[in-house]
Order: sequence, then C-alpha cells, then structure tokens
Amino acid sequence: MSAATALVADRAELWIGGRWVTSAGAPIPVVNPATEQVVAHVPSATAAEAEAAVTAAVAAWPAWAATPVAERAEFVRKLGDALEGAADDLAAVIATEVGMPRHLALAAQVRVPAEVLRVTATAAAKYPWREPVAAGEVRREPAGVVVAITPWNMPLHQIAAKLGPALVAGCTVVLKPSEVAPLNAYALAELAHEAGIPPGVVNLVTGTGPVAGEALVRDPRVAVVSLTGSVRSGARVAELAAANITRVCLELGGKSANVVLDDAPLDLVVPAAVQQAFFNSGQACNALTRLVVPGNRHDEICERLVETVAALRLGDPFDPAAELGPLISERQRETVRGHVRKALSDGARMLVGGPEAPGDLPVGYYHRPTVFTGVTPDLALAREEVFGPVLAVQAYPDSPGDALAVDLANSTDYGLAAGVWSADPERARAVGTRIRAGQVKINGVRTRDSLDAPFGGYGRSGLGRELGRHGIDEFVEIKSLLG
Ligand code: NAD
Repeated sequence: MSAATALVADRAELWIGGRWVTSAGAPIPVVNPATEQVVAHVPSATAAEAEAAVTAAVAAWPAWAATPVAERAEFVRKLGDALEGAADDLAAVIATEVGMPRHLALAAQVRVPAEVLRVTATAAAKYPWREPVAAGEVRREPAGVVVAITPWNMPLHQIAAKLGPALVAGCTVVLKPSEVAPLNAYALAELAHEAGIPPGVVNLVTGTGPVAGEALVRDPRVAVVSLTGSVRSGARVAELAAANITRVCLELGGKSANVVLDDAPLDLVVPAAVQQAFFNSGQACNALTRLVVPGNRHDEICERLVETVAALRLGDPFDPAAELGPLISERQRETVRGHVRKALSDGARMLVGGPEAPGDLPVGYYHRPTVFTGVTPDLALAREEVFGPVLAVQAYPDSPGDALAVDLANSTDYGLAAGVWSADPERARAVGTRIRAGQVKINGVRTRDSLDAPFGGYGRSGLGRELGRHGIDEFVEIKSLLG
C-alpha cells in the first residue's frame, strides 16, 4: 500500500541562496522501511557546497536581521499555515520515509510542527527584545548564522523547532536534515520560498554528518549550531564547535521514566503509558520507556500492560488501522533486537513481544512491541536508550513509596522527560519537582497543548531548550546598553 505524492522523487539539488543548485555529491538512497525499497535519492553535499550555503546565509543575514520582528514572525506564521495546507502530502512523504502510520503522522508529524511555527510567531510578539535595567537596557539581538542539524524520527517537527525561533530571532539558517528521511525537508524549503522568505535566509544542504554536517559545524562564520540527534553526534559537534567557540544547542537522547504513584487510576494510566512508550514505534527521544510502578500494584499493572500491548496493531503505514509502523532501517531493527537479547541474557523477564519478526509482516523492518519487568537500575535496559518499541517496568518498594520512585526515576545519566501519575495532582507535582528532567508531564498533558513550554534535557540529554520563548533564547546575543 502507498499513497502517491510528488514529494517522493529523486532530488539532485541543494537549496542555496534562493535557488536550486545541482550538487556534485554522490546520491544517497532513501528507503521506505515498510517495503525495504529505495524510493528516491538525495545528494550527499560536499564540504564546498556546505560552505557555499553558509556564504549565502552570511550574505542574507544583515537584511534579515534588520527586518522588523513582527515581519519575521509573520513569515514564520505563514510557513506554519503552508505546512498545514500541504498536510496530506507531507504526512504521506513522512509515512513513506519514516514509516509512521500516515493517519498518525498527519497530526503528530505535520500539524504539530505547523503549530510550533505559529506558537513561535506568537512568542516572538511577547519576547523581551528590550528590557530596562538600572543603568540602561538589555537588548536581545540576532546571533547570526545558524546551522540546524536534525534527525529522522520526527523530521519536520525537529526542523520547525529550530527554524521557527532562529528566523524570528533574526538569524539566517543552513539546514542539514537527516540523510535517512530528507524528502520532507525539500518540501519545507519549497514552502518557505513560496511563503516569501527572502533568498539565503533558509538554505538546505542534504548529506551525511561526517561530510556536510562537519563542514558546517567547523565553519567559523557560524554563530550557533543546533543539533538534535544521538549523544555521540552531539559530543562530536560540541568538540568541533569548541575550536571556534561556536555556541551549541544539543537535543539528545533519553531514558525517561513514567512514574505511577500508588493511588493512580490504572484505567487512565496503562493506555497512556503504552502510547507514551510506543508512539512512533518507540522512536521518540522523549518516549517514556521506563514504567516506574509501586510494588503493591506491579502485578496488576503488568497484566493490563500485556493485554494492551498485545492488542497493538502493527502494519503498513498507509493502513488506517495500523498503530505502529516499521522501524526506520534494518540497522535500527538489529540494534533494537540486540537490546532485547541483552535484557534477556541479563535476567530481565519478558512479558510480551520479543526479537523475532512478526510472522504476518515478512517484509519491512517491523519489531514487535516488547515489555520487560524485573529491570533493575544496573541493567543495560534501564540505562541505555533503545530507540525502539521496548518498555522496561521497574518496581519500587511500597514504603516510603514516592521517595523511592523519585530515586528510580533519577537513576540514569539522561534527563529529558518524565511523567507522573496520581489521583492527587499536588502529590504528583511534588514528585515531579524532584525528578531531574527537562519536561515532566503530570497526568498525561498532551503534546499539542504544551508547544510553548520549553523542551530539552538535563545531563546527557543535552544543552539548551527548544520551543516557546525559551527556544528563541538559543538564537540571540544579549547586550547591556548602559548609560
Ligand atoms: P544521529 O545523531 O545519527 O543524526 C542526527 C543528525 O546529526 C543527522 O542529520 C546526522 O547526519 C547528523 N550528524 C551525525 N554525525 C554528525 C557529525 N559528526 N557532525 C555533524 N552532524 C552529524 O541521530 P538519529 O539516528 O538521526 O536520531 C536518533 C537520535 O536522536 C536518538 O538518540 C534520539 O534520542 C535523538 N533525538 C533527540 C531529540 C530531542 O529533542 N532531544 C529528538 C529526536 C531524536
């Protein structure tokens, strides 16, 4: 099954300085993870092409920085509306290159980023561009040229979360999307052009991290590098950026806890916890992949989990009944299988799922949603990001309950996200304040209701924040103008 969209097509160009420039780089295949077929190619930009994109962004910067904030914000709002207008095609392209079911991608992968852009435009109107202090004023000025490097799992969202705030801040941007799911970024570049964003303000360079990505990060004309990706890529980018004291904003991985307090209503908690762990087949940086449960409710929770997870429907991303699509690649599936096998050999108890391919889906990189219990904090499954459909249940003793739940929640090097569930929201908030994570959701706040709230990590989950006014902070310089 597939849906025709003209967006799934070979591309040989890069968008630099407001025009399509044919790349000298080798073609990179884009694979549909549900069919295992190559559906398109994009160029692997050379270092010289990456530098040319920075040159275009440098040239466009003075005029863009001098454009009034309200006008810049209006362009960003228009781009959000344009994404919404192209939602059907964009959802189809994302279903094809990422494998997320199309009907789910429409909301989560297109309407959410469209809204991110609009919310960012609104945040720009309220942003403290100028603030009085005793001896004068504080001004927030555009930082300069921004390099935005994004991953494949929520590709348009991650682009919107960088592009929107960078543009309203008065920065020009070179975008290097994931080479694994780059077709949506071509659509976005075209929509940005149609929205009237001036030449050179948004540039698109596709290619690999080590070649195009590193050339961009090394460029001394770049003011900010904002990367969403793995800890390994983040560390490498920070190392290269350090040579020029280039600012980095890093949105990295997670091993986030979903904490169930002993009074939590399980009818609500279990379906939500399954959704929060298995959304996009677990390929979400903020997936709540550890379910931290009270010992005295462990068995009941596990029973309900097994029932809910066993009923999840894996299937073709264009099947409206599918809830989970395939993983992004054969490599990713092998990585996930490795985590599952390691958990088994470490003595964790598998309740449902497993590393074998689902029998009814012989083609496509499908992995069965899998739940383990008995996952003590020392196990690899408790500490390492899987980036696949694997949930670890961790039980805490009933007394003194909440304090031990907090200790378990905080027992990893990451700190991106968390959830807390209780019949008493005050009690849940008290636990939430003690969890070391950048975003803690009490009783299941929906993503689309929280797009003005900062998102980012403590510890190895990264540096800096995205979304809302805090997202704009990453792309401004702060000046005290005194006297
Ligand atoms: P990745 O790190 O492999 O790639 C991310 C991007 O970085 C890609 O565009 C890639 O080409 C680029 N890159 C890789 N090496 C580079 C280098 N040396 N120099 C410059 N650029 C380089 O990550 P991925 O596999 O695409 O995505 C999955 C990872 O992203 C997971 O670890 C996940 O947790 C993380 N992630 C984090 C967030 C967040 O907001 N915190 C969101 C989504 C994904």
